Amino acid sequence: MKETQPKSLFLWPREMFAPPSLFKHYVYLGEMAGVAKKYSDVDIIDLSLQNISRQEFISRVSDRDFVFIPVEVYTARSIVNLVEYIRNQTKAKIIGYSTACALNPGLFANYFDYVVASGFRGNAIKAILQGDFSDFSIDGNIVNTKRKPSNIEWGVAPLDQMPTEEYLKISHNEIELSVQMGCKANCAFCMEKIFHPASFVEYRPIPEIVNFFETNIYDRYFLDATTFTIDKKWVLSLCDAIKKANISSIPKWRTVTRVDCLDEELCNAMSSAGCYQIGLGIESLAPNVQKNVHKVIHEQKIIQVFDMLKRNNIQPRGFFILGLPGQTKEDVDYCLSFIKDNNIPCRWKEYLPLHNVKTFNDIAQLKPFEKDSFFFHPVANMSKEEYLKVLLKDTRYTRSK
Ligand code: SF4
Repeated sequence: MKETQPKSLFLWPREMFAPPSLFKHYVYLGEMAGVAKKYSDVDIIDLSLQNISRQEFISRVSDRDFVFIPVEVYTARSIVNLVEYIRNQTKAKIIGYSTACALNPGLFANYFDYVVASGFRGNAIKAILQGDFSDFSIDGNIVNTKRKPSNIEWGVAPLDQMPTEEYLKISHNEIELSVQMGCKANCAFCMEKIFHPASFVEYRPIPEIVNFFETNIYDRYFLDATTFTIDKKWVLSLCDAIKKANISSIPKWRTVTRVDCLDEELCNAMSSAGCYQIGLGIESLAPNVQKNVHKVIHEQKIIQVFDMLKRNNIQPRGFFILGLPGQTKEDVDYCLSFIKDNNIPCRWKEYLPLHNVKTFNDIAQLKPFEKDSFFFHPVANMSKEEYLKVLLKDTRYTRSK
């Protein structure tokens, strides 16, 4: 790093509870700091898990040139207060990016020096650090992708600068790496199409993934993906490269994909390259709800894929959503018995009507999304107690018995 390089800070705000999922902490915070580390001196503070004094906070913020903050719908209100506080401590440019900024960049334009709205956020971070926006269009202080960059910036989280020990306690010694961006599907509840409106999938280069396994020795890995197996050739090449990697034993990893993107050859290759679990987005089993969210999957197909995975020593895991438009208690009960009958681990998430955020004109409207109030998008005939019981049963890191 040269003396003249700028100084940047990546900052996650305080939250009331420890995060139930570290995906955004590794990928939105850590990996983006990893990109910035190529072009600046980087510091990282994750206030959701780090307790630091005011003196330390101010001294780490005050000498920075850039402060990058991922803004989620559930942290947006507290971030606005944090930004006001930081402005009194530093002359740094303050940049908002991630979910809430992508949904409604205009809402945040008054608070930040730059708001990253859409596209490859790693490339946007590089552009801001270097002041070169040739791949972007700028509307006021809102940064949008103009064209697909020739070189996509994938970052690797600087684990030695993050509260990794705290993360590992939550994740039971599992570490995460994102390997895909973009999706060809368009599920109504998903953010991927807001981040990347065009229909494409970009992959982290295979040597980078293998290098991650070779240089980070953890019990387990989560390869974060949109639809891991959408490109069979890429998966087979990756599995082959993992088996040839310079590591004492094949790493244990898990990932996610769609029910309609798996076959026997893929399952076999993934299993022999260390994949022990695949999460499948099922969301709901009610035909009308599936139709509402543009994700129609037949039960027979799900069962067939579960069997195929089990045959190949890969544990299937089902992802379901609570509170989807049109969902009823009967649908939820049916899903619960389906999960029990098929003996699969699962995880429920609450439905967040994220698209509503596009119409907000006041930050205060984000209040219902905050995790301390437990966002409650009702399911017909289901009490709040019943809803929370289902929702809080399993987390991203729940191990099967
Ligand atoms: S397949 Fe997955 S990543 Fe793609 S739009 Fe649907 S939920 Fe999002």
